[in-house]
Amino acid sequence: MSETTTAPTATPTSTTHFDVLIVGAGISGIGAAYHLGTECPDKSYVILESMDSFGGTWKTHTYPGIRSDSDLFTFGYKFKPWKDAPIASADKILAYMNEVIDENDLGQHIRYGHLIETASWSSEDNLWTISATQRDSGEKVQFTANFLWMCQGYYRHSKGHTPDWPGMDDYAGEIIHPQTWPDDADMTGKNVIVIGSGATAATLVPAIAADVDHVTVLQRSPTYFFPGENTNELADTLRELDIPDEWTHEIVRQKILKDQHDLTQLCIDYPELAREELLNGVRELLPEGYDVEKHFGPRYRPWQQRIAFVPDGDIFAGISSGKASMVTDEIETFTEKGILTKSGEQLEADVIITATGFDLCVLGDIAFSVDGNPVDFADTVTYRGMMFTGVPNMVWVFGYFRASWTLRADLVSDFVCRLLHHMDEAGVARVLPTLRSQDADMELLPWLDGDNFNPGYMTRSMHLMPKCGEKHQWQHSQNYWVEKEELPLADLDDGCLVYD
Ligand SMILES: Cc1cc2nc3c(=O)[nH]c(=O)nc-3n(C[C@H](O)[C@H](O)[C@H](O)COP(=O)(O)OP(=O)(O)OC[C@H]3O[C@@H](n4cnc5c(N)ncnc54)[C@H](O)[C@@H]3O)c2cc1C
Repeated sequence: MSETTTAPTATPTSTTHFDVLIVGAGISGIGAAYHLGTECPDKSYVILESMDSFGGTWKTHTYPGIRSDSDLFTFGYKFKPWKDAPIASADKILAYMNEVIDENDLGQHIRYGHLIETASWSSEDNLWTISATQRDSGEKVQFTANFLWMCQGYYRHSKGHTPDWPGMDDYAGEIIHPQTWPDDADMTGKNVIVIGSGATAATLVPAIAADVDHVTVLQRSPTYFFPGENTNELADTLRELDIPDEWTHEIVRQKILKDQHDLTQLCIDYPELAREELLNGVRELLPEGYDVEKHFGPRYRPWQQRIAFVPDGDIFAGISSGKASMVTDEIETFTEKGILTKSGEQLEADVIITATGFDLCVLGDIAFSVDGNPVDFADTVTYRGMMFTGVPNMVWVFGYFRASWTLRADLVSDFVCRLLHHMDEAGVARVLPTLRSQDADMELLPWLDGDNFNPGYMTRSMHLMPKCGEKHQWQHSQNYWVEKEELPLADLDDGCLVYD
């Protein structure tokens, strides 16, 4: 265990050393710290976070209604019981994370306001050197670490993705991206267009429906929604029976995972039936004769993208009441007063909200180098969706897209702690994912199989991502049910990881 401050050199003025450096204090980084503290208590560590508080996604997004679309029994950590309704607002998720930080005294390890810019590996010293700027003072600071645990998420927090539509400069109203929601935004009595129909739009529309004059959801193509009550009967029963929270959490988690597994299987085996069931669920909540197929019947198969759970069917209530309406069409151009669609419809609005998603960013926009050579992650092959060929002593937490992200963050955390113990026992300082001789002719594939999973923000940026291989060691599985068996038993000495 070591934490030392060396004598000042040039700029930056000092270097602080930790055994492990965690990047990001979102749900993955806080989880990583908990696991490290519990499973590797002898390791010194720090979390560097560019924002002024923890939460990541749940701090960045402040648009009205911001909530999870996963249940918190599985989006919450396996080690910390969730005691509320399954779908939670950002505030409740932040409160839950705050409890994890307090109960485990993690706050002392977090340094906020540190934007990391570079990470350089030296094989001579077997160390990462991480340079960051302190946001409040502008001061450059430097850290060294034996191991880098990247929990920086997968998209750029500073700004969302807004396509460049013709005529945007001509529009006289306000354009807002939900990721940078202004504190003083006021929708009262306004005519609003929301572009996009993903989970963000499904959350925002009901949250502003009471205030606006009217809100139109303009979508290029429909999304699957799964309406249901925001309750969990099994959890409620177990709570009534005074079953300890830890048991309730685990039992309900397992039940939800089983139900999700069955739904996934149904989507794979009988996509048409799954589609019909999903559409029927929506149909029940809309007025007689509503064109469900046009506005809620996607072209993709169920489960090629995350299916957004809509608590209490709230977006459909807005449509039924006439406060919200759907337009399925493409944008021809923005106009002074709103949007002209390709089919010639003129939509007018005081405010246009572009719920058009994220800008994927690979490894927090940090410039990586290994022994002075810049790393282009698109040239690397991933080891189990966590590590990269040619990049030593580094793990990236990339959660599930269809199941809850945190399920994988927990699995990866256990893996990292097992790997660190393995290295200590073997007396080695470096682990480097390396293609074995039997992998030399392996076909290299895109990070995600576009036929299996195809949301826009991934397909837009797939060329930036590391490659996968045909063999399971070189793949990023999106299958929790496979990984929960495979990762805890993954052979650390099968030749894919080379130690020094
Ligand atoms: C609106 C929204 C709703 C979502 N809902 C769900 C859901 O219901 N279920 C689900 O499974 N997933 C959901 N997701 C996906 C979600 O992003 C993840 O589930 C999860 O919150 C990601 O956590 P994370 O800690 O890995 O990353 P993030 O939450 O992205 O946190 C990363 C942190 O790292 C910091 N960071 C990044 N780069 C640097 C740097 N260079 N230097 C210093 N710090 C840095 C960031 O400031 C941030 O605090 C949602 C995403 C969004 C945007």
